[in-house]
Amino acid sequence: MKLRTLFVTCLLLWSLMLLSLFIISNDQLLDAITINVPKDSGKPREDKLLGGLLSEEFDEGSCLSRYQSSLYRKPSPYEPSQYLVSKLRSYEMLHKRCGPGTEAYKRAAEQLGDDSRSVGECRYIVWVAVHGLGNRIVSLVSTFLYALLTERVLLVDQRTDMKYLFCEPFPGTSWLLPVDFPLMGQLDSSRCYGTMLKTDAINTGTIPSYLYLYLIHDYEDHDKMFFCERDQNLIRQVPWLVSNSNQYFVPSLWLIPSFQTELIKLFPRKDTVFHHLGRYLLHPTNQVWGLITRFYNAYLSRADETLGVQVRVFSNPAGYLEHVMNQILSCTQREKLLPELTTLESQVTNKSTSPKLKAVLVTSLYPEYSEKLRTMYWESPSSTGDMVQVYQPSQEMFQQTDEKLHDQKALAEMYLLSLTDNLVTSGLSTFGYVAQSLGGLKAWILYRPTNHTTPDPPYVKSVSMEPCFHRPPPINGCQAKTVNSTRFVRRCEEWTMGLKLVDSADVF
Ligand code: GDP
Repeated sequence: MKLRTLFVTCLLLWSLMLLSLFIISNDQLLDAITINVPKDSGKPREDKLLGGLLSEEFDEGSCLSRYQSSLYRKPSPYEPSQYLVSKLRSYEMLHKRCGPGTEAYKRAAEQLGDDSRSVGECRYIVWVAVHGLGNRIVSLVSTFLYALLTERVLLVDQRTDMKYLFCEPFPGTSWLLPVDFPLMGQLDSSRCYGTMLKTDAINTGTIPSYLYLYLIHDYEDHDKMFFCERDQNLIRQVPWLVSNSNQYFVPSLWLIPSFQTELIKLFPRKDTVFHHLGRYLLHPTNQVWGLITRFYNAYLSRADETLGVQVRVFSNPAGYLEHVMNQILSCTQREKLLPELTTLESQVTNKSTSPKLKAVLVTSLYPEYSEKLRTMYWESPSSTGDMVQVYQPSQEMFQQTDEKLHDQKALAEMYLLSLTDNLVTSGLSTFGYVAQSLGGLKAWILYRPTNHTTPDPPYVKSVSMEPCFHRPPPINGCQAKTVNSTRFVRRCEEWTMGLKLVDSADVF
């Protein structure tokens, strides 16, 4: 009898233990699920298509970032126009009809080099990666806009690590240029549009089957003719274009009269070009998404407020520079992005009733900027009582473009910066431009220092979320009339040689 009681008691205890284990593991499971979703994303799952920007046709698992980005990013206050949405859907159909693997692509590729053949139903623009990742991204978005405007198919040269960075953006097809594409091994400069103009080798009589476009910052006057209406009339008829650019040339596309009408319909709010096209086109691969979400969940998701600080040092020697650190502090404190420091005594008297947790995401090739900031807020109390946590995902020390993991980290950091509430960027850096535009933010831009001193004033608030086109064609050229009549292109805040799109409502 005693033995039976003992047996029943043991059984009962055992069941209780199993039950508690189940509860604990379920709790942990719940934790694991909730930790993957930011606590205050406030974004209903229905908007995973970003106001219709994205197609529903994709398999979610193959590219988690595509439909999960809405869980991490605050809802954009800028709705894409219905016209843009329908233009994107038509583009997707065009890409399916003409993309790699189709009969149309095969025919068009076969006709390369044969200038006597008539243009088929599909025309293409091949994008070639030039310079760092930020430069590549701004030129890719510009090239896509050009493709949309001219009904060309955008194909991406895959000899670099693009496929490890971004998912396919167009459903049911590929944007990667097949590796056997004949032109890539033999870039013939005599086929460069600028060179052909200079040597009178091009005329309306014969339309070449392909042309190179040289739109890199050191391009010459003849290359810049690409932005003239008259030249576009000719270029439009060329079946294959191969574009080399490291610039955000969108503002000058707005100054081509025949494009302007269409652009106004596509982007009634002018300064949303990169914001919409970037969110449409640029979906980090699952590997990069892992870098982004693990970092976000671990360090940013619990903060009341997040601040991104992007530190790009262009001077030689680069690295940690006191005058750059002073510039960052001057900007973040004057703009109250970060609290000032105080003494222990005043901290006791000024104690805030509801201190905030501020997470600062610093991105830089060098570790010292974030270390210094972290130490400052550890050694002294903040005047508001707010807690400041400082994080930096990587310290790569030097640029290693085309090194797969290095580029993946760079992309993850641009993306993480774009998720912050406020952003401070380094002037003239395309790395910062990408973060600002993706996030729909207007950054505080740190002027580029000269003579190893902190510039005065040290920073300027961006008037629009668009990137700056650093080296546009001269405004007294073929675009002179359009420039005078436009109210939505202006000089960049930190670089008067450059042009950027603004929404006239914000500036005038
Ligand atoms: P830009 O030169 O500032 O216009 O930006 P780019 O992105 O075109 O080139 C700079 C490159 O240096 C990046 O693509 C990265 O490879 C590297 N880099 C510069 N700053 C950072 C940074 O803060 N984090 C990481 N991970 N890489 C950086």
